[in-house]
Amino acid sequence: MVVIGSGIGGLCCGALCARSSRDVLVLEAHAQPGGAAHGFKRDGYHFESGPSLWSGLGAWPSSNPLKQVLCALDQPLPVVSYRNWDVLLPEGALRVGVGAHDFETIVGQLRGAKAVEEWRNFGSILQPIAAAAAALPLLSLRPGAEVIPQMWSRGRQLLPHLASMRHLSGAFGPLVQRHLKDPFLCHWVDLLCFLISGMPMADTNAAAMATLFGEWFQPEAALDYPVGGSAAVADALVQGLQRHGGHLRCNARVTGLLLDGDRTVGVALSNGEEIHADAVVSNADIWSTLDLLPEGAALQWRHQRAATPACRSFLHLHLGFDASGLEDLPIHTVWVGDWERGIDAERNALVFSIPSVLDPTMAPEGHHVLHGYSPANEPWEPWGDLVRGSDSYVAFKRQRCEVFWNVLEQRIPDIRDRTTVVMEGSPLSHRRFLNAHNGSYGPALSAAKGLFPGVTTPLTGLWLCGASAFPGIGIPPVAASGAMAAHAILGREAQNSLLKELGL
Ligand SMILES: Cc1cc2nc3c(=O)[nH]c(=O)nc-3n(C[C@H](O)[C@H](O)[C@H](O)COP(=O)(O)OP(=O)(O)OC[C@H]3O[C@@H](n4cnc5c(N)ncnc54)[C@H](O)[C@@H]3O)c2cc1C
Repeated sequence: MVVIGSGIGGLCCGALCARSSRDVLVLEAHAQPGGAAHGFKRDGYHFESGPSLWSGLGAWPSSNPLKQVLCALDQPLPVVSYRNWDVLLPEGALRVGVGAHDFETIVGQLRGAKAVEEWRNFGSILQPIAAAAAALPLLSLRPGAEVIPQMWSRGRQLLPHLASMRHLSGAFGPLVQRHLKDPFLCHWVDLLCFLISGMPMADTNAAAMATLFGEWFQPEAALDYPVGGSAAVADALVQGLQRHGGHLRCNARVTGLLLDGDRTVGVALSNGEEIHADAVVSNADIWSTLDLLPEGAALQWRHQRAATPACRSFLHLHLGFDASGLEDLPIHTVWVGDWERGIDAERNALVFSIPSVLDPTMAPEGHHVLHGYSPANEPWEPWGDLVRGSDSYVAFKRQRCEVFWNVLEQRIPDIRDRTTVVMEGSPLSHRRFLNAHNGSYGPALSAAKGLFPGVTTPLTGLWLCGASAFPGIGIPPVAASGAMAAHAILGREAQNSLLKELGL
């Protein structure tokens, strides 16, 4: 079988299939595996292309599907745990701890006892919903089947959670509006939703948020940073794939799907090569996958899925800088300019990550490596007609990325003088290195309107996985969709024995 793309979803799918003795070849257009979660090296710095917030990767058992897949592959992934990150909000600069107690202290200082009470009450409303989500692990779902009948198949385990189950497939916004009145708390939840899904709380899935809060409300809650960054995660999955006999080819761009009627029989590559396979899984985003279809194939599906709305893109800032005298830097800083503009407004929210704070191997001695990004709030339209490297492109990029420097200078006033490496990235860079349609974060499918489409397609032998498939965008969801595509190929018995092995 062939997997198109070595994003986290594609690697999870390929490695699980290889573990079940399937002959697997993963084809990756880029020079590095990992997709949005790939790393790259320059001048001794290990730069990150995407994710900064990871959790559920250290301890076992874990509800994170990526950890579950790594466990199934018997693949270790060392992590550093941490509890604090910084936010620069209109209310001021705050150091926020995960875990119920630390955040309550901040809410008390900012908004008083009534807001703390409201937050506690919200936590108790969410707990049964988080427990319901935990009782139905994503890896236990049968691809292509309706969720409700599957719930009945887990019968007794789910009975205590039936009342909360109705929340799992809807949006988080209505729950928040019903139970939170304090404006700061509402803004805070909206920010977390936006960081998770690329959409405000009205469109973000309630199960994903309840799970996140469920984890963060635990007394010993912590976040994990993988030692070696995203590249270490991709490497662990590649090792899992290869140890089970699978193969990865980088710099291998798939240009078309080979069909025999409605049956997928292989792929064509940009070098003219054709590779035949009885199963093909596309980890490319939905728009790029549709571009691979031969003319006239699966017309209705193509037409319907081509209309999928896209999340916006990213600006990036990659820095290597002198760390001397900067003792108290957090691993992450999230900045919001103005709540009233809306959490998804252009360049109104930024994320900065300095992983070398926790993992000194990410930067040369005495230096730090930084990845700043504008999370899915940069529109594609002003960039679409610009040519990379042209004067107008360079000037526009400099102008748009100035916001990073202005915010960074609040924390490190001489940051411009400290830098030894500077790379600014636009939606065009994002599209180029991640092979993402219009540099998009993924489909902007509102949870208020339903779930993401599953891994099946109308073509025999073609499956999907990754951020364009259920359950959606983000590392845990794409790992789950990779596992679901593997379940679809390997069948129910293999899925059941995997669940048994993992104790799910
Ligand atoms: C800046 C940024 C920050 C993020 N932060 C977080 C975070 O903190 N926490 C979190 O959980 N998630 C985060 N995410 C989201 C998360 O990283 C992604 O949702 C996830 O990694 C996408 O995985 P995927 O399986 O969909 O594959 P992708 O990452 O989309 O990879 C698809 C792969 O397919 C390859 N490909 C495409 N077309 C072809 C072709 N024709 N031939 C061969 N190969 C092809 C691409 O090159 C790519 O490698 C972030 C994303 C970004 C961009």
